[in-house]
Amino acid sequence: MNCVPGAARVGARSPVASRASHAGDVTAGKMQFAARLARRVGPPSCNAMRRANAVASAPPLAAIHPAAWRGLAGTVNLFNRSRMTPPKVATSAVSTEEAETTTEPEPIKLMTSDESEELLKIRHTAAHICAMATQKLFPDAKCTIGPWIDRGFYYDFDYKPGFSEQDLKKIKKQMIKIINKDYPLRREEVSREEATRRIKELNEPYKLEILDAIKTEPITIYHIGEEGDENAWWDLCAGPHVKSTKKIHPKAIDLEAVAGAYWRGDETKPMLQRIYGTAWGSPEELVAYNEFKAEAARRDHRKIGKELNLFSIQQEEVGGGLVFWHPKGALMRNIIENFWKDIHMARGYDLLYTPHVGKLDLWKTSGHADFYAENMYKPMDVEDETYQLKPMNCPFHVAVYKDGYFSYRDLPIRWAEMGTVYRYERSGTMHGLFRVRGFTQDDAHIFCLPDQIADEIKGVLDLTEDILSTFGFTEFEVNLSTKPEKSVGGPEIWDKAEGALKEALAVKGWDYEVDEGGGAFYGPKIDIKILDAIGRKWQCSTVQLDFNLPERFELTYIDEENSKRRPIMIHRAIFGSLERFYGILTENYAGAFPLWIAPTQVRLLPVTDAVTPYVEETVARMKAAGVRVDVTSKERLAKLVRNAEKQKVPVMCVVGEQEAKDGTLAVRTYADGDVGVITVDEVIARLEAANAGKLEKF
Ligand SMILES: [Zn+2]
Ligand SMILES: [Zn+2]
Repeated sequence: MNCVPGAARVGARSPVASRASHAGDVTAGKMQFAARLARRVGPPSCNAMRRANAVASAPPLAAIHPAAWRGLAGTVNLFNRSRMTPPKVATSAVSTEEAETTTEPEPIKLMTSDESEELLKIRHTAAHICAMATQKLFPDAKCTIGPWIDRGFYYDFDYKPGFSEQDLKKIKKQMIKIINKDYPLRREEVSREEATRRIKELNEPYKLEILDAIKTEPITIYHIGEEGDENAWWDLCAGPHVKSTKKIHPKAIDLEAVAGAYWRGDETKPMLQRIYGTAWGSPEELVAYNEFKAEAARRDHRKIGKELNLFSIQQEEVGGGLVFWHPKGALMRNIIENFWKDIHMARGYDLLYTPHVGKLDLWKTSGHADFYAENMYKPMDVEDETYQLKPMNCPFHVAVYKDGYFSYRDLPIRWAEMGTVYRYERSGTMHGLFRVRGFTQDDAHIFCLPDQIADEIKGVLDLTEDILSTFGFTEFEVNLSTKPEKSVGGPEIWDKAEGALKEALAVKGWDYEVDEGGGAFYGPKIDIKILDAIGRKWQCSTVQLDFNLPERFELTYIDEENSKRRPIMIHRAIFGSLERFYGILTENYAGAFPLWIAPTQVRLLPVTDAVTPYVEETVARMKAAGVRVDVTSKERLAKLVRNAEKQKVPVMCVVGEQEAKDGTLAVRTYADGDVGVITVDEVIARLEAANAGKLEKF
């Protein structure tokens, strides 16, 4: 699977069986996603392939185990061992061997604009065509800007009446007409005066503002249409574009939505109408993209969070961007945090807890009060002093350092904290757990000697890989950002630091891209993006060197010659934001969480009151073993199973009189269906092993 150019294929490690069978969790995923995933992690199990085929045309729940549903009506013997053995040759499926030999069509890669220059040109040109078409149909609509975005484009118009669904259809039709005319895209260079004259002639006030913001000359204009053609249309633009409109396939474009957006993103400026569109290289790509969108919607963490009662954000009553973790979500968060703390302590970190507010002076010293002010809330008065709600944990970790006295022998120091921070986000930009106003960083700061940088970075990269892969993320895209024009710290320390980062990456054997000059002014950094089950990339982890804060706060250690020196400071986060990571995790698994973090791991489904003592005893034994178990009864078994599957409980155990007599359970899993009749001892042993080993499946 090669869906991202330049991506570090950490998947060079041999595919783990449980990861491969994760393909089976793409319940309602189209075949394509399962196949994509399967290719990424290795050949899928027979079961996963069968599931993927079975679900291609059926709704999620009914699709899981069609045979099982037929069997469910009225009989509890469904779980009888002889019946549940899967047929040797899957009816609707390709067996593992076949899957390896038959040539499947190569899955379509849905490339983002930064991955494909050609798609970027197509999308950019489509934005122009969209504006041209819109003005043809709605001559009063004023043009503003229309950039390409990851998988499409948008164009903002000042058009007070707004656009309806019907209008979008008309605009799309008009776009197709323009495409079919195969107009050339012509670039023209003009002087600022000439550009001004032409814009005034068109009466496009926003374009004048845009022109003012362009500081270089000549001004470039892109025309659609031949010179002198009265239908021709033009826009201020730096390019690039395709050569002519027919380079865009008329069946590979679509207009998706219209939304309000303020001019320049500023709520004091006019509200514009933003038309979102998409454009691809072929109609097949557009179809795949629509499937991708549907799949992403199915996995939306806001929807799943509500369905599974994991968390809420109460915009009206409490305020936007503030997260409430409900019992099940909180339970999962606790498991995640405990894992995180344990592994950090095992890797030589110490834990810190620091306050949520502190004197504003700290943020003046750190510089945040200047360069980070727009993300910070207003300070508050406490007696006669000014305090600040923290947007970052760093100055507090620095405060702990300053409270101590360190020699070179004490370094490196590694301090980690699940630190909750508050940052201002505009009300229109918040989105579920992905963009919030209060979130918890899995933060850590390392204070070390210059010669320790490479080892420390390597340690952070190892820890990052180990933590992320425990949650099923094994494919990363890695970026190294280097010294920008304006920077603090001398060239030697920058060279040393960049060299150390490269060395650490080389030791890891990771491919990476270099963003020359893309670093922060205070130090180089490594960013790591993870790929999820449907191929989306998420920026999570960052390792950032800092030559600035130790200077500003005058941090010191005592060296071999007994003189004071500045330590190197490293900021790093692995999840980034715990809330956001939890959202990503939810979408990656579509709510069917790995067994070790699932809030309810096992549900017992007694079919008769006669087995109550046996069920109670089993629950007690499971709880004593640290297994998260609950019981539902008093319904028909089919309904109990359906409810458990809706809640995506990983393991369901049916208990009848035979099971009670034999000391067994009839086990069925969310991922694989019927597993068989297994002794209670073994079920408990397997669940304990899953918890200890952080396993995805039973
Ligand atoms: Zn343009
Ligand atoms: Zn920091």
